[in-house]
Amino acid sequence: MAGNRTFTMIKPDAVADGHIGAILAKINEAGFRIVALKMTQLSKKKAEGFYAVHQERRFFEELTSFMSSGPIVAAVLEKDNAVADFRTLIGATDPAKAAPGTIRALFARNMGENAVHGSDSDENAAIEVAYHFAVTELFA
Ligand code: ATP
Ligand code: MG
Repeated sequence: MAGNRTFTMIKPDAVADGHIGAILAKINEAGFRIVALKMTQLSKKKAEGFYAVHQERRFFEELTSFMSSGPIVAAVLEKDNAVADFRTLIGATDPAKAAPGTIRALFARNMGENAVHGSDSDENAAIEVAYHFAVTELFA
């Protein structure tokens, strides 16, 4: 079985800090298969669309400016229980509260610049995959 899918981004802080390779290694070591991968930069509009659920939050402007401030690495990951297992691997949103050894504990700068994104449901994972990748870019 291919398992199910989650969507991730290595955020601009972790790309700028040189952590792409270490984060991808952690992802593979945890048993995820990378089925799509690209380095790109989000426009402000694309970041606003991605985080539209947060548009009324006070941190929305900071979040979308940061997410469009430099290159990111977007990926689609496959594993049984992919969404929940990936949220466990990345740790809490605030790296100060993230469990030791998690990607955010190891590589994030702070709450806003927190190294990685992970989908929060199977439904949102499918939406996020389609937002960033064409079907021809997925290698299941
Ligand atoms: P992500 O969706 O990026 O995987 P998450 O699901 O852990 O993170 P969300 O509640 O969806 O957290 O918030 C999205 C992002 O918005 C967070 O990853 C963080 O970068 C930013 N964010 C959330 N809360 C705050 C806050 N109080 N102050 C600043 N930035 C915040
Ligand atoms: Mg989220």
